[in-house]
Amino acid sequence: MSLTVCKFGGSSLADGNNIKRVEAIVNADPARKFVVVSAPGKRYSGDIKVTDMLYECYREVQETGSCAAAFAGIRRRFRSIVEELGMEGFDVDGILDETEREIEARKSSDFTASRGEYLNARVIAAKTGRQFVDAKDIVFFDERGALDEKRTYAKIAEALRDCDGAVIPGFYGTDAEGNIKTFSRGGSDISGSVVARAVNADLYENWTDVSGFLACDPRIVNNPEKIEIISFKELRELSYMGANVLHADSIFPVRKGDIPIKIKNTFRPEDAGTLILPSKKYKKHGNIVTGIAGKKDFTVIFLEKSMMNSEVGFARKVLSVLEEDGIGFEHMPSGIDTLSLVIDSHYLTGGTLEKLIGQIREAVRPDYVRVLENIALVATVGHGMAFNVGTSARLFAALSEAGINIRMIDQGSSEINIIVGIDNDDYEKCVRAIYRAFFDDEKRAEVMPD
Ligand code: ASP
Repeated sequence: MSLTVCKFGGSSLADGNNIKRVEAIVNADPARKFVVVSAPGKRYSGDIKVTDMLYECYREVQETGSCAAAFAGIRRRFRSIVEELGMEGFDVDGILDETEREIEARKSSDFTASRGEYLNARVIAAKTGRQFVDAKDIVFFDERGALDEKRTYAKIAEALRDCDGAVIPGFYGTDAEGNIKTFSRGGSDISGSVVARAVNADLYENWTDVSGFLACDPRIVNNPEKIEIISFKELRELSYMGANVLHADSIFPVRKGDIPIKIKNTFRPEDAGTLILPSKKYKKHGNIVTGIAGKKDFTVIFLEKSMMNSEVGFARKVLSVLEEDGIGFEHMPSGIDTLSLVIDSHYLTGGTLEKLIGQIREAVRPDYVRVLENIALVATVGHGMAFNVGTSARLFAALSEAGINIRMIDQGSSEINIIVGIDNDDYEKCVRAIYRAFFDDEKRAEVMPD
């Protein structure tokens, strides 16, 4: 029988009624044996996520030694969930009392933040009649704070081997000293991926409040096409450039295990969602371009020096300066006598840009240095681009027709993306122009006017 690990996000579990939907989804398919849960999220805009309320508890404990005031809100959330679920015999107050005492005693930010997932998993396990398996016993971090993959996969496989159904809290595990440690925010996606890999699932379902990935940002293009199938590589490019549905680190465990991910909408389970496939299982179909994503606020440092190509070590010296200053770079397009560094502008505030340029001048003595600020990057991503002659011509023609001045071009060596650098002010216009050039006529009509 096939095996699915499903992870439900905070909005899918925000109140008792949503949890009832989740229960119906889980019960609808016997393959859905293992369920990873987030803490209750926002019920309406302006509401506060339980995880954020817990961080507030931690602040209160630090200041006063008690978290009584902030924990009262958490108590209300879980009491009302249990009430909505009609779980009369469930001793929610007993579990909440114990949790409050532990938060006050341990005085740990990670422990406190993890309790939303812990409490939610306890409730959902009891409601669905599944075993509660605590993440602290099966997810481990090493001395450097990275996931201890070997130990974690072995422990999960062992704990779930003879288990018919389990609910596992996401977001946390145990560090090398035996203390609770969390992943970064949104980390339950990683927990789900890790569990899927450990039990060698056929599918990792990630249930959220949207019906998968869209071909571009719906705030820029009205009603863009849904992405039905995407490869891990394409997803990596798009999420790196800002298309956020999944935590970026959640891709790696399942990708290594060749396990597909399906993004599904808890509130519209009938929608197809987006299927994310390993390259081996992915066959290109339909559009040449799968999606468009981008980010604003980059700085390009353009260096020119004659005979740069024959100066051994030029790039290394430039990159050493960046390394010493702790500055990362996003892209490094180069020509015979030119090299450009594309850097996220947040690294370069408060005089850092001027200092960096001084250091680069000293290190490599360029003939010419030019700085372009307020640059946006737009990535056009799709496996089809490598095989379709004329793709870049189409893209650049569209930008020229829209009157957009291209400041930089970078094509990834994988040939699945073309990145253009343009002025921040042209960002939305650029995304729309590319969308019009590559997506179908019907949709083109709905693109927002420039
Ligand atoms: N509850 C955690 C957060 O809000 C983790 C998660 O939901 O994935 O970031």
